[in-house]
Amino acid sequence: MTEQYKVIDMHTHLRNAIPLHTIIAKENGIDIVVFMANTNPVLDNLDKILETYKMKRYCHAAPVSAITKNLDGKELVDVDRIKYHVVGFSDDGKCLSDLSLLKEVLKKEVLILLHCEPEAEMVKRYLDVLADVNGKMHLQHISLRKSVELIRYAKKSGIKVTCETCPHYFSYTKYDLETKVNPPLAIEDDIFAIREGLVDKTIDVIASDYAPLPRVTGIAGFRSFLPLSYGLVMRGILTEDELKEKLHNNPKKIIESGYYKLG
Ligand SMILES: [Zn+2]
Repeated sequence: MTEQYKVIDMHTHLRNAIPLHTIIAKENGIDIVVFMANTNPVLDNLDKILETYKMKRYCHAAPVSAITKNLDGKELVDVDRIKYHVVGFSDDGKCLSDLSLLKEVLKKEVLILLHCEPEAEMVKRYLDVLADVNGKMHLQHISLRKSVELIRYAKKSGIKVTCETCPHYFSYTKYDLETKVNPPLAIEDDIFAIREGLVDKTIDVIASDYAPLPRVTGIAGFRSFLPLSYGLVMRGILTEDELKEKLHNNPKKIIESGYYKLG
């Protein structure tokens, strides 16, 4: 029997409604949410980030800063001022294609979370950067066999990288649902690869990528997050303890590898 633990969802979008969305998280058994910078306004300076701490919340909600101003991939935010107040830095929703900028920010030893699009191609390029420059890199919402294989190989070669997938990528193919997500749903072979990646620890974390609008179904949602994740235990793919690693131990370790402490 696994002891009680706090469920951490390290990839969410709370838009402009932290109270509402943290209630929905809490109702669905999620204790801690990490939210991305693509709010309105974008979280790309310290004042806007500190503003979010004043908003009411019903579960622990921890912000991520943008890597670049206005998420436009051109100019770094003031990383040294912001780093004490956020989990890490991500331009999630957009793919950071300027690799010299990425190297510059990795050298600051802060946690960098990366949206990879096109996925496998950018996973490869980001891993090549990490072979060159040491840093704390976490790859977001991995959905494809090719990406799992690249990350597995990199980890075996001693490259320190972490990654996450989302419940929809080990549950549905593109033929199952019409709902659009980014990255898109793939095929059955990718689902198998994602599950294998979870089992052999290539994939460290399960996160929801909760994006409340415009979706109305349970995909990329808080409602389906724990049921689909626990489905892995019921199908005999992960043990209770292995699921706890993906929902608690690993996200906690990754979050606290930066300056943020969950307490
Ligand atoms: Zn993303």
